[in-house]
Amino acid sequence: RVVSAAPASPKEEAIERALRPKLLDEYVGQAKVREQLEIFIGAARKRSEALDHVLLFGPPGLGKTTLSHIIAQELGVNLRQTSGPVLEKPKDLAALLTNLEANDVLFIDEIHRLSPVVEEILYPALEDYQIDIMIGEGPAARSIKLDLQPFTLVGATTRAGMLTNPLRDRFGIVARLEFYTAEELARIVQRSAGLLNAPMEAEGGFEIARRSRGTPRIANRLLRRVRDFADVKGSGTITKDIANRALAMLDVDPQGFDLMDRKLLEAVIHRFDGGPVGLDNIAASIGEERDTIEDVIEPYLIQQGFLQRTPRGRIATLAAYRHLGVVPPSSAEA
Ligand code: ADP
Repeated sequence: RVVSAAPASPKEEAIERALRPKLLDEYVGQAKVREQLEIFIGAARKRSEALDHVLLFGPPGLGKTTLSHIIAQELGVNLRQTSGPVLEKPKDLAALLTNLEANDVLFIDEIHRLSPVVEEILYPALEDYQIDIMIGEGPAARSIKLDLQPFTLVGATTRAGMLTNPLRDRFGIVARLEFYTAEELARIVQRSAGLLNAPMEAEGGFEIARRSRGTPRIANRLLRRVRDFADVKGSGTITKDIANRALAMLDVDPQGFDLMDRKLLEAVIHRFDGGPVGLDNIAASIGEERDTIEDVIEPYLIQQGFLQRTPRGRIATLAAYRHLGVVPPSSAEA
């Protein structure tokens, strides 16, 4: 994929960091989540207490990491950042936890991928700000209790359903991030273009926004590719025409779907008669991981009404047939 929502190279990440809003007021969209956080953060600050633990879930690129940084910034505390797969051993997590200062934020990305032994350590830490750790080895080994400073865990996951119940139950604040509207993304693209010193007409920005799969990370990446195109093929200004031509070159279609989106819809329609078809069959057919399909590709297709999730499998809707220019069978469900 030329432009995806997946995490990127270190250089891409550096640029992404530079484009990150730092304060809640600069965070576009997600009105409900923002309003909730504003109140809870304000209350925690007033009482000089740690904020309740926060679980953020939603597809990649919607602003979970950004929000965790903003939470720490607004609380006026340090942020420590890690991820589920990185924490291999209980002592990795224990080291992080014992180094937290009062009311700090610990951000764990991909928290659904914590190993069970590491997750065990987390329960008493979240509940009582305490951990049990093993000291020494063999017959001399013993367990000791350590007190921690009060802290806030911000956990991020693509799907809340992948968390174990005991873990999920320990979050006081659970927020689901939604896909952004074209108008919201247009504001994000406008702001990013300003930060990147990229001359852009409003219509050019809107074209990028409209075709970014509801995802700020994709909007920012497309913006940079379109800017390159404008520099080489145009006068440097991102106009609607330049955006259209650049996006066509990047295989982003007028609906904003990319190659994988179309490949998935084509497979369901042409190879599985429009469905219902199971996820594993789709995965094998398009050569993509099941998790990627479930986390990245299909949420947007479902939200846009091109795909339906049913107990018997995925079904292509009439909109999908229309989009691919295929005549639907008369019996097609939609
Ligand atoms: P996630 O952690 O959910 O994968 P990130 O927080 O890394 O997503 O966001 C990806 C990029 O999108 C960041 O570079 C950030 O600049 C931008 N972004 C995300 N949400 C917003 C928002 N609400 N307003 C402005 N920019 C945003």
